Amino acid sequence: MNKRKPEWLRVKLQGAEKTHGVKEMLNRLSLHTVCQEANCPNLIECFARKTATFMILGSICTRNCTFCNVTKGQTQAVDPEEPANVAKAVEELGLKYAVITSVTRDDLPDGGAGHFAQVIEKLRATEVVVEVLIPDFQGSREALAAVINTKPHILNHNIETVPRLYLTVRPKASYVRSLELLRNSKELDAGIFTKSGIMVGLGEQEEEVLAVLQDLRAVDCDILTIGQYLAPSAKHHPVIEYIHPDLFKKYKQIAYEMGFKYVAADPLVRSSYHAADVSDIIK
Ligand code: SF4
Repeated sequence: MNKRKPEWLRVKLQGAEKTHGVKEMLNRLSLHTVCQEANCPNLIECFARKTATFMILGSICTRNCTFCNVTKGQTQAVDPEEPANVAKAVEELGLKYAVITSVTRDDLPDGGAGHFAQVIEKLRATEVVVEVLIPDFQGSREALAAVINTKPHILNHNIETVPRLYLTVRPKASYVRSLELLRNSKELDAGIFTKSGIMVGLGEQEEEVLAVLQDLRAVDCDILTIGQYLAPSAKHHPVIEYIHPDLFKKYKQIAYEMGFKYVAADPLVRSSYHAADVSDIIK
């Protein structure tokens, strides 16, 4: 049974009319966003500010994370026009910072890494700062290298939750594999900025969260996001706890003491919410 949202999570959804332009453009270019597919609470604010997180490789995922609203099932053909259309959308929106993510495509030999590389190459031909939020490519270092070699500015891979909860929250993923991906990213390109994110309120203990932060620093992760888990529906993993903003502040302070270069920790923070705020540290 999902609990009543506390006052710090009640956002006034104003400005929906300002999102029409972005939605029209996305339809015209046959593009998906994780904003829409994951039913993000910040969508109106971001679209009204003309920013969005593009979701490539279709809108159907091969995995079954219980917190995620993205459709699972029979995947779609990869759209060869997508790299050019993402670049068009970034230009039309006048973005200075673009975030590209995807569903997980365990059905593709390279997990979609080659397609990611094509999108990055298109964007790297412009001035835009490129952040990619990638799946784990089932631990393939070769697939990861294909992405890293096209020089995205930020390599993001979410650790999502604490290891004890993986079986119930992201059963087809592996905590160790996700950490290894972040470590390998630095080995493949020491100059790249790595980023990861965790949701809280899924039943984790404070000391488990701190242990995850330690593990992320041990693989030299630079940027961290911490946000409150919100259940997309009653069919998804229930919210176990609404974490008080004071604990987010505590996590943020400790994370900086651990050496993260940039930390966004707040109930409404999402992996790419205000992502461009890191621009100062990556110059
Ligand atoms: S891998 Fe999990 S979180 Fe990512 S889109 Fe698929 S179901 Fe959602």
